[in-house]
Amino acid sequence: MREVEPGEVPPDGGTAVQLEPGRPVFSGHGADDYVCAECGNVLAVAMPPEYMNRKLRIKCAQCRTVNAAVEVPGVDYRAAFKRPG
Ligand SMILES: [Zn+2]
Repeated sequence: MREVEPGEVPPDGGTAVQLEPGRPVFSGHGADDYVCAECGNVLAVAMPPEYMNRKLRIKCAQCRTVNAAVEVPGVDYRAAFKRPG
């Protein structure tokens, strides 16, 4: 994850708000855990990488940082949400 830059607004993404530190917003059956870029608090666990696309934001319950997912090469993000292009 990375921090959202000032003025950066996702065009059609959503922000998931974590309610309590230590309670991941998402949990899945994938290989990767995702932590807050600022404090290292766990935001999502075992998520398949294709769901952690660039439109996703997660607000950390511990430090209030809004984290953006980082897309990595080689992952087919269209497979997760049927995203065009
Ligand atoms: Zn945090």
